[in-house]
Amino acid sequence: MTVSAHFEPVDPLGLDLPTLVAQFGERFGKGEYHALALFRAIYRTGMADPRALSEYGQNLSLAEAVAAQFPVHLPPVVGRSGDGSTYKFLLRLRDGLETESVVIPMKSYKSLCVSSQVGCKMGCAFCETARLGHLRNLTAAEIVAQVLVARHVLGEPIENVVFMGMGEPMDNLDNVLCAVRILSDRRGLAIPLPSITLSTVGHVGGIRRLARLATLAPPEGFPRLRLAVSLNAPNDPLRSELMPVNRHWSLAQLREALVEFPLPRPRDALFVEYVLLEGVNDSRAHALEIVEFLRGIKACVNLIPYNPGPDSPYQRPPETRVREFLQWLLEAGQRSRLRGTKGVGAMAACGQLGNPDRKRAR
Ligand code: SAH
Repeated sequence: MTVSAHFEPVDPLGLDLPTLVAQFGERFGKGEYHALALFRAIYRTGMADPRALSEYGQNLSLAEAVAAQFPVHLPPVVGRSGDGSTYKFLLRLRDGLETESVVIPMKSYKSLCVSSQVGCKMGCAFCETARLGHLRNLTAAEIVAQVLVARHVLGEPIENVVFMGMGEPMDNLDNVLCAVRILSDRRGLAIPLPSITLSTVGHVGGIRRLARLATLAPPEGFPRLRLAVSLNAPNDPLRSELMPVNRHWSLAQLREALVEFPLPRPRDALFVEYVLLEGVNDSRAHALEIVEFLRGIKACVNLIPYNPGPDSPYQRPPETRVREFLQWLLEAGQRSRLRGTKGVGAMAACGQLGNPDRKRAR
C-alpha cells in the first residue's frame, strides 16, 4: 500500500458513507470494509481512533494514515443554559462562531433542535435569530457535530432531530441534506428520515426540490423526510409584514407547492407552525383563514405561543386566547395541537436563539 502524503486532512463528520468509501479508495486503495469501520466507530461511540479498531488489525500504517487524514474533532461545548430538562448548548466552531442547539425531552427519548446557519437572512419580524443577520452557513460536519455531541458527549438519547434552531435550512440545503444523509444512515446514528424534520419559512424553491427528492430512494433520495412550514399569518398583507419571504413567494405559490408535496403513507402529514402574536394574528377570522388555506392539504397545525425576547415588539396572547384559538381550528375540522413552551426562561425556545453576546459583539 502506498500512503500518499499530499492529501489534505478532511473532517469525516461531513462525509456520508458513499463519499467516505470513495475517499478511502482514492487515498489508500481501500474500500468499504475500512471506511465502514471508521464510520461505525465515529457514530456509535463518538470517537474514532483507527489504531484501536480490530478491522485495521495489524495494519498500523493504514490506521495511522487514516487517523492523520480523517481526524475527528468534536467542537467544544462552551455554554449551557436551561430550565431543568430542556436546555440549550453552544458549540464553538473553528472560526470562533457558535452553534446553538436545544435538547427537548419527549416521553421516552429526546429530540434535538439543531441550527443550520449562524444567524439567518430571512428577517422575520418576531424572531431573535433574524436580529443577528446571516453570519454564515454551517457545514454538514458542523450540523452533524451538534447531534454527535448531544448523544455522545452530553449522553442524551437523541432519537429525533428538528431543523428549528438558528437559520433557514432551505437556504443551505446542500449541506443540510448531506447532514441528513449522515444522520439517517443505519450504520451510524440511524435516525430514521421520518424522525427528522426540516422547518422552512416557506422557501418554495426548497420545498419543490425536497418534493422531488422525496420520490427517490436513499442515498440520493429522502423519502418521508418530514417537512414543517412556518405559516404564522394566513393572508398575504399580514404575512408579508411579518415574514419578508412572502414578498418573494406568495401564499398562493406556497399553497401550490404544499399541495404537490408527496405524503405517501396515510399517517404522513405536513406540520404547519403558527406562532401566536397577541392582537396580530390571533383572532377567530385568522383561525378560519388558516383552515381555508389548508383545505385539501394533509396537515397538522402546531400552535406556538410567542416567546418574547429581551425587547420584543410583540406579546404572547393570554392562555385563554391560546385555548380558544386551538378550539376554533379543531371545530372547523383542522388537525391541530398546542406546542409547549419548553425552554422559554433559558432563551432556548423557538425563535429565541441568537446569542446576545454575539449580538453585542456585532
Ligand atoms: N427558518 C425556519 C426554522 C427556524 S424558526 C423556519 O422559519 O421554520 C423555528 C420556528 O420558530 C418557526 O416556526 C418560527 O416561526 C418560530 N419562531 C420564531 N420566533 C419565534 C418566537 N419568538 N416565539 C415562538 N416561535 C418563534
